[in-house]
Amino acid sequence: MQNAQAPSRIGERDCSADSPVRDSASMLRLHANKALTGLLVHRALQIDRSHMSPNSGARRSVDGWIGVRNVVVHYTGMESAATALARLCDPAAEVSAHYLIEEDGRILGLVDETMRAWHAGRSYWRGLTDLNSVSIGIEIVNPGHEYGYRAFPDVQIESLAALLGDIVDRHALTPEDVIGHSDIAPGRKQDPGELFPWQYLATKGFGLWPSGPRSSSDVGIWPSLSTIGYAIPAGPGGDVLDPHTGPEDVIAAFQRRYRPDRVDGIADAETRGLIAAVAELARSGRSLATGWA
Ligand SMILES: [Zn+2]
Repeated sequence: MQNAQAPSRIGERDCSADSPVRDSASMLRLHANKALTGLLVHRALQIDRSHMSPNSGARRSVDGWIGVRNVVVHYTGMESAATALARLCDPAAEVSAHYLIEEDGRILGLVDETMRAWHAGRSYWRGLTDLNSVSIGIEIVNPGHEYGYRAFPDVQIESLAALLGDIVDRHALTPEDVIGHSDIAPGRKQDPGELFPWQYLATKGFGLWPSGPRSSSDVGIWPSLSTIGYAIPAGPGGDVLDPHTGPEDVIAAFQRRYRPDRVDGIADAETRGLIAAVAELARSGRSLATGWA
């Protein structure tokens, strides 16, 4: 599947139940803990804004949705961080993202979150197109499949987790709202790729991760994939997919994220079980968040 797909380098021209507090000492500890947490978050989030990109515009209303609904994670897919940064800030390239995270964990803020950055391209997720208008884009420095795909350093992922925590909190997002570029453009994009630690990030509350495949499902794989958010060829979102994108590409996109050790586009029993399990998580998460299934 991999060979048939285009490289994923940056290049998307625009087109509590709280515990009861029983006494004042507990209250003081609670306040102290909150203050400490805030301090730690602030310290972890040192954002370098010395490289602002001119490549952005006003966010648009998408099917009645205004504001940030998703975070889209990418890898840069270029030879070096410097090359990627130069491209993300080059007016002629017409590409950008809100943030860039270097392999040493440094976070650069390139576009203000109120603005529409140009990272997603032609895209669809959970009923909405134009993901640029409804998302925050984060580019993670990695050469990608074209220039020597390699593991993401721990320090880089910890910076990402800190940034995600801040974004998710400020925009009141849920775990399922954190997605990858390959999710919203199957067949066309592979980033952030099968080495990206989705399972680890899910333990921090970012992205869905099933405890294991379900042995059976009453719902077919295509309605389930649609429930999760994927565009379905000849179904919801299908008109946004590139013409050459087939069902196997959507299954491969799912596998790249949820079964990264075998990305073959074949809906075998394990893949079908995982699709059912993730769809169930998505349904129950929405149910908890909104009261709707
Ligand atoms: Zn991308």
